[in-house]
Formats: sequence, structure tokens, C-alpha cells
Amino acid sequence: MASFLENTQQHIARAASVLELGAAVLAILEKPREVHAFEVPMPMEDGSTRIFSAWRVQHNDVLGPYKGGIRYHPASSIDEVSALASLMTWKTSLAGLPYGGAKGAVTVDPKTMTPKELEAVSRSYVRRLVQVIGPDRDIPAPDVGTNAQVMAWMADEYGKLTGHYEPAAFTGKPVEIGGSQGREEATGFGGVVILREYLKTAGGELPATGLRIAIQGMGNVGGVIAEELAKAGHRVVALADSKGGMFREEGIDVPVMIAAKAASHGPLTEIVAGDAKIISNDELLALDVDVLIPAALENVITVENAERIQANVILEMANGPITPEADAILTRREIAVIPDILANAGGVIGSYLEWVQGRSRYYWEKEEALAKVEKLIAEAFRRVAAVRADRGVSWREAAYIRAVGRVAAAMRFRGWV
Ligand code: NAD
Repeated sequence: MASFLENTQQHIARAASVLELGAAVLAILEKPREVHAFEVPMPMEDGSTRIFSAWRVQHNDVLGPYKGGIRYHPASSIDEVSALASLMTWKTSLAGLPYGGAKGAVTVDPKTMTPKELEAVSRSYVRRLVQVIGPDRDIPAPDVGTNAQVMAWMADEYGKLTGHYEPAAFTGKPVEIGGSQGREEATGFGGVVILREYLKTAGGELPATGLRIAIQGMGNVGGVIAEELAKAGHRVVALADSKGGMFREEGIDVPVMIAAKAASHGPLTEIVAGDAKIISNDELLALDVDVLIPAALENVITVENAERIQANVILEMANGPITPEADAILTRREIAVIPDILANAGGVIGSYLEWVQGRSRYYWEKEEALAKVEKLIAEAFRRVAAVRADRGVSWREAAYIRAVGRVAAAMRFRGWV
């Protein structure tokens, strides 16, 4: 199976070929501009010292400062971070934001660390990168395994090192220290807007409400989109975390399950009760539902299971959940795939709004912030829909053509190529 990075490069190459960009432009777009790789030595509370690998990959900043999350995951790798940094370039471009793309990771497992240890790792990460990040240079945000608390420690460390606390240096912070109202739910909220817009264009093949939906992942993205979809009148019939999932034909009471999981600090499968059935992640992906939402990790839909997918629509809320080989199978089977760089762009749009508020020190109410997310992501959807209609390509190809085209045009104007 091709790696996540190779998969991403294939999408770029295809768009570059359609746009006839030439080898020099493609060579720049395929590679990150800067790669920062280092080890974080960590004295643990049990007296041992552990070494974690860490990276910040800065892919392309022709449109503005680099922007992208930081992932804490033991299996993270330089290839994974490079692929995710590249996706951020396309996502910010597609959303019309004044940003480039970056991503970071540390190979820690936050579930096995004490809060003190996590704080120390987070501060150490910022100390190593202080020269190459900042509100006009590279603005990190949360991703898998990190959250508002991690951003708060990082922003505090950055303030100590630079001499003043700068709210626009990190996004996804708690509201109390310059975070934005609505940022937490922006990714899931944006996904619901995208699904709504898609249903409008789908020519009435699917109803606007009451859809049966399966969601893989119950974190910041999966948990929020599950709640937002239930609020919007859809029926979430399946949910899963890393250990497995649950299915209930009549629909899951999402807020109750999310609250129960948060209270138990354990896997979902241990709190499934009543007439709900325990299922595996594999079973969840193959359920006969209207919409399937991968909202956990990359490469979960592959040639191994693509033929078994029964959903009409896949909304990619995770980054890179479908391999290109699987994508080709889904396209042949006429399953609509709304790609990650469009579907989950609500997160970076929310981050952009937090950065704007941080710079001006003027903060909006939640409704105002989410209305802006809705407007920006709906515009991005319409841009992709226009390219798709014009060129007769898939949603993913249309999104890449639009995103790569904007970056290539900026590189030409700035004289990079
Ligand atoms: P998170 O750490 O909050 O949650 C991840 C969820 O995935 C958890 O419920 C976990 O149990 C589950 N999971 C982990 N491994 C799994 C496996 N092998 N099988 C099934 N489930 C598994 O992370 P998140 O912030 O919700 O991010 C999820 C995805 O969305 C990632 O691909 C991330 O890059 C992407 N994303 C996040 C944001 C954001 O704002 N947080 C924005 C855009 C995209």
C-alpha cells in the first residue's frame, strides 16, 4: 500500500497535470519548504527519562504564514507529518485563507502521560521551535491527541520566551486566554454545512434530514459532528472509538453517549447498553447507511474494504482516510466522496477567525463566529462544485484543482517560478 505521503503527492500531481503546471512547479508543490526534526528528552515522574521524536514540517507559505495542527501520537512519523502539512496548504488555499500549510507531531501517547509530563513536553516543543513559529510565521493549532489545554501551555511558553503573551501565535486556545467562541465545534459544524450544501446539489437523491449516518471517531471532530448532525435532524446509527463501536438502528442518543464516555474515561464498547449492538471498526465502515463519516485517522478505507462500503456518501472529516486505490473503487461504484480538504476545513477557518480576533483584541460572540465559518466554508463548497461541474471530475479532483491552482498562481505572481 502506498504511504499517506505518496497518496497526497498523487492528488497534487493529478491536479498539476490537469492545470498543465509543468515539472518545476510540481517539484516545489510536492516537497515541504522547511523540515524541523528533533528529539524531546523527557524526565518522567517515575524517575526515568524518555526520548520522543518530534517534527514541525512547513510545506508552503506563498499565501501567508504557515498554519496547521500539532499531533501527539506514538505512531506519528516524518512522512505522516509531511503529508498532513501538504494537506493544510491545499485546505487553506481552498478556503480562501491568507495562510500556507504546516503540521507538527510528537511521538508521545497522551493517554499514558500525567498532566505534568504533558505540560513539560508541550513547553519543550515550543522552546525548540520558537525561532520559526509566531503570528506572522507559523501558527500551530490542536490535532489528534492535543487540545485547548496543550495550546494554552504552548502559548504561555511562547510568551515567556518572546517577552509578551501573544494570543495570535496559537489557535484552539481556551476562550479565557484569547480563544474564539465556536472554535471547538468549528470543524464538526463546518462538516454539517458541507453535507447540507452537498445534499442541495445532489438533485434530491437523498433527503435533507433524517439520513442514517455512521461515524468513526469520537474525539473533537467525530464527537462534535455527531452532536451537530443529531441536532440537524439526522439519525446517527453508529459511533466508534479506537477500541470499537456501537450500532443502534433507531438512532443513538449522541449527547448521552458522549457524556457517558467522558465520565467513564474508558472505551465506548464498555458502556454500550440496552438494545444497542457492539460492532468493530471494520463493521462500522461497511454498514448500510446513507452517509459514512471517517473522523479518526488516515488510511482506514483501502482496497481491502472499499468494495464492501455501502454508504451513498462519504464525508471525510479525518485527514486522508481513503487511499487513492480505494478512492478509484469508490468513484467506479459512484459513491460520492467529499474530500478532507473541503469537508473538515471548518477547523482551520475557525482558527483563522481566532487569529483575526487575537490580532485585533476584539472578540465576537459565538453566533457571529459560527456564522462566519458557515459563510466561508459554504463559499469553498460552491467553488469546488463549480470546478466539478465545469470539468466533470470527482469532488476530490475538483478540490485539488482549485486549491493547487490558487497556490500556483500566487507562486507565479511572487516570482517563485
Ligand atoms: P481526537 O484525538 O480528538 O480524536 C480521535 C478519535 O479517533 C478518538 O475518538 C479515538 O478513539 C479515535 N481513534 C483513534 N484511533 C482509531 C482507530 N484506529 N480506529 C477508530 N477510531 C480511532 O482527534 P480529532 O481532533 O477529533 O481528529 C480526528 C481527525 O480529524 C484527524 O484526522 C485530524 O487530523 C482531523 N482534523 C481535526 C481537526 C480539529 O479541529 N481537531 C480539524 C481538521 C481535521
